[in-house]
Amino acid sequence: MTARIIDGKAVARKLRAEYGARVEQLASRHGVRPGLAVILVGDNAASRVYVRNKVRACEEIGIRSELIALPADAPEAVLLAEIDRLNADSGTHGILVQLPLPGHIAMRRVLERISVDKDVDGFHLYNVGGLMTGTTVFPPCTPFGVQKLLEHERVEIAGRNVVVVGASNIVGKPTAMMLMQKDATVCICHKLTRDLAQFTLLADILVVAAGVPNLIVPQMVRTGAVVIDVGINRLADGSITGDVDFAGVSRKASLISPVPGGVGPMTVTMLLFNTLRSAERGVGIVDETDGLLAGI
Ligand code: NAD
Repeated sequence: MTARIIDGKAVARKLRAEYGARVEQLASRHGVRPGLAVILVGDNAASRVYVRNKVRACEEIGIRSELIALPADAPEAVLLAEIDRLNADSGTHGILVQLPLPGHIAMRRVLERISVDKDVDGFHLYNVGGLMTGTTVFPPCTPFGVQKLLEHERVEIAGRNVVVVGASNIVGKPTAMMLMQKDATVCICHKLTRDLAQFTLLADILVVAAGVPNLIVPQMVRTGAVVIDVGINRLADGSITGDVDFAGVSRKASLISPVPGGVGPMTVTMLLFNTLRSAERGVGIVDETDGLLAGI
C-alpha cells in the first residue's frame, strides 16, 4: 500500500481564501473588520518568527492585527494591564499571548485574564473546560487544524480507533478530547507508556505529537491507517522533520500528513478562523455547522 499524502499547504490555502471572503463580507455588510492582538514578551527568536507569521497571515486575509512587543523584564502587571485594555477594546476580537513567557510571569494568571470571548488560542480554563463538554467556544488551533485536515480528507472519525501519542495541554490532550467528541474511541499515550506499539497498532487514526524524530516506524502502524504527524523537530543539518518515519510509514498507511507541509500550515489558519468567528459572533452571526459547537 502507498499512502496518499495530505497537502496541508493546499488545504490551508483553500480555507484561508474562504475565510478571507468572509472577512470582506463582514466588513462590507456589518462595517466590522476582525482584529487580532498578539502580545510578545521578550525576544525569544522562535517566538518572534511565530508572531511574524501570525501577523502576516492576518494581513493576507484582511484581518487587522496589532503586535504588542514588551521587553523581557516587563512586570506581570504591565502585561495584565495590556490585556485589560484589549479586553475592553471593541475593535479587538482575538487576543493571543505568545508562549513561553519569561519565568517571572505566571502563565496561568495571564491566560485566565484574557476575556473568554477573545481567547482565540483556546487556552483559558473556560475554553479548556468546554473541551470536556463539547461546548468550547475556541478550539485550540493545532488540534483544530488536525480535525479540519481529517474532515477535509473525508476521514470517518465516529466509531474509529484513535490513538494520540503525546499528552500535552496544547496538542495531545485537546486533540484526544476533540476526536472523542466526534465519537471516536480514543487512547492517549505518553513518554511513560510501556510498549507504545501495542497501542499504536490499534489505531485507525494515529495522531503523533511527541517531538521525537522517527518515533513511529512502520512496524508500529496498522496497514491502511491514517497517520497525522504533528511533530516539528529540527535536525543537526537544519532540516525539519516530524515524529514519523515518513518514507517507511507511507508504504503502510492509507493517508499520511508530511512534515513540513502537513499540520503546520493549519495551525495559523485555525487562529485566523477563531478570530473571524469571534468577530462574526460579535454581530450575531452564529453558524453552528461551522466548526465551533458542531464542529468538534
Ligand atoms: P510537549 O513536549 O509539551 O509534549 C510532548 C508529549 O509527548 C508529552 O506528553 C510526552 O509525554 C510525550 N512523549 C515524549 N516522548 C515520547 C515517547 N518517546 N513516546 C511517547 N510519548 C512521548 O510537546 P507539544 O507542545 O505537545 O508538541 C509536540 C510536538 O508537536 C513537538 O514536536 C512540537 O514542535 C510540535 N508542535 C507542532 C505544532 C504545529 O503547528 N504543527 C504546534 C504545536 C506543537
